[in-house]
Amino acid sequence: MTLVDELAKLHEVQKIDAQIYQREQAIKALDSGNLLKQKAIELMKQHEAAKAELQKAEAALCNRELELKGVEQKRAVVHEKLYSGRITNPKELGDIEKDEQMLDAQIRQIEEVVLELMQQAEDARTTEAKLHGEFDAAKRKWQETMGRTQTETARLEKEIAALRPERDQHAAQVEKPLLRRYDDIRQRREGIGMAMTANDMCPACHIKLTPQVLHRLREGEDLTFCENCARILAWAFHKLPANEEEDSV
Ligand SMILES: [Zn+2]
Repeated sequence: MTLVDELAKLHEVQKIDAQIYQREQAIKALDSGNLLKQKAIELMKQHEAAKAELQKAEAALCNRELELKGVEQKRAVVHEKLYSGRITNPKELGDIEKDEQMLDAQIRQIEEVVLELMQQAEDARTTEAKLHGEFDAAKRKWQETMGRTQTETARLEKEIAALRPERDQHAAQVEKPLLRRYDDIRQRREGIGMAMTANDMCPACHIKLTPQVLHRLREGEDLTFCENCARILAWAFHKLPANEEEDSV
């Protein structure tokens, strides 16, 4: 087999390798969901803290409300005693009146605290609800992204798996040393080990070829490499299909 024929066969391998490489890169570019996961975890922690804060606020409010109820009951007893008519001693009535005034003051004081705690519990409830919503949304977004990535990865891997036997079939027709050389370049050069050209440009790195390289290529006697990107070059002795002429590899 002549070198020209050999390179034409290698070009068939390259066309399939380019398709495989493109899919491998597409898989790598997919969102792993790690950032979204971190964000969801952060919001989960914030939500847990807000829940604890709300429980604390509600417990404090409950305690003060119970305390208020107790003082109000005490005051009701004192009030009843004061106006029952059972006590007639002015000194004793005066003391009871003082007791009532003291309890009234205590009630006003606790009521103020209760109002403040109600506001705090309300604020804590708002914060908890807001963070609950944010955490749910972040979790959903993460799960959706993971789902999309898994589906897309599976699709691309299936396509790669379908391309592999085709690749092997074409590769089996290329002489082993040339194939090894090509594979070595391809692995170091973004999945492209060889390029076929029909003009004075390297289709892989888009650099103008020197007259010497062009001459060697047209001769087709020796293996020729691009002086810029070091990929194997081949001259398109047969006209390339229209869709390959633009950016042929
Ligand atoms: Zn090049």
